[in-house]
Amino acid sequence: MNKTITVTTPLFPPLEEFETYLEDIWKRKWLTNNGHYHELLEKELCDYLQVKHFSLFSNGTLALITALQALQIKGEVITTPFSFVATSHALWWNGIKPVFVDIDPVTCNLDPAKIEAAITPATSAIMPVHVYGNPCDHDKIKEIADRHQLKIIYDAAHAFTVNQNGSSILNYGDLSILSFHATKTYSTIEGGAIICHSAEMKRHIDNLKNFGFRGETVVEEPGINAKLNEVQAAYGLASLKYIDQAIEKRKKAAQIYRKAIDQIKGISYLQEMKGVKYNYSYFPIFIDEAEYGISRDCLYETLKEHNILGRRYFYPLISHFTPYHDLPSASPDNLPIAAHIAESVICLPMHHELSDEDLSRIISVLKEAGRK
Ligand SMILES: *Cc1c(COP(=O)(O)O)cnc(C)c1O
Repeated sequence: MNKTITVTTPLFPPLEEFETYLEDIWKRKWLTNNGHYHELLEKELCDYLQVKHFSLFSNGTLALITALQALQIKGEVITTPFSFVATSHALWWNGIKPVFVDIDPVTCNLDPAKIEAAITPATSAIMPVHVYGNPCDHDKIKEIADRHQLKIIYDAAHAFTVNQNGSSILNYGDLSILSFHATKTYSTIEGGAIICHSAEMKRHIDNLKNFGFRGETVVEEPGINAKLNEVQAAYGLASLKYIDQAIEKRKKAAQIYRKAIDQIKGISYLQEMKGVKYNYSYFPIFIDEAEYGISRDCLYETLKEHNILGRRYFYPLISHFTPYHDLPSASPDNLPIAAHIAESVICLPMHHELSDEDLSRIISVLKEAGRK
């Protein structure tokens, strides 16, 4: 049997390099609470990502939850059903009601043309996702938010390093969050971050992630524990040196996929926007069953039989899950495009270790499976 090709694989720094960090941590005898490597990683990521203010978190979900706390978001928040479930869970944990709005069929992101109809007097914010690292239509979303005095919090978990017209899309909105989970393009094993626009907001966020402490004896608000430890910060520093290389490998794989898929009837892929520098975090394809010959699920199973593990991100839609499916906005009639895309998508294996041989194995299954 052929070796298994997984949808992703973590970016490990060379072990010897990580060990030198560990030896230093053992010497310093400082494991967490804003240590040396935590501080260094925040600085390096600020520079690397071209953002001004950056706060590390123990994971992306706590970063999302804390971002909503930092802005005191309440009531209803407009969001996308086409994302990882943590996007809505962060609202739920803040006692906020998610209001699902349909997505654009080309970008798979929240459709700005459908946002205004979902705004009520209870709406306090919009929480879009740059899904697969594809930038949201920020200009239009901002125009709507400004008109209705709403905050914007971007779930930018997929958007590490993504630039539009030369600047980072992580600067969009009031706050943006990243995830550094092991399955993401860049990882600290588990981890995340909030990007904000002022030193004052960063201080506020830093306090919130440390129980709300301001100094030794003062607690001004009910914070949480969402701190990233020194060992994980060191892992992040060690692997940051290899991220450009890894993204370059992903880019090559994406080019090979696109060229091959252009020749296959009934399969399409996400079109790139002009002026955007992508990170190739995912490679979603969309199956048109009538054209291709077999269904999305049938292709998914066929890939699996060949030891190729794609993932149906994002299926089911968040709005389909038990905590949310009774909300009026979760009705399939309200989300026809998202429902259709969730039924037709497969994310193909995409990571820095895909070999030419792996890619040709995947492509030959895509070519053959539809003909049967
Ligand atoms: C991964 C992910 C999250 C959650 O991040 P964690 O670090 O796993 O908590 C949130 N939103 C999206 C869109 C994600 O893909």
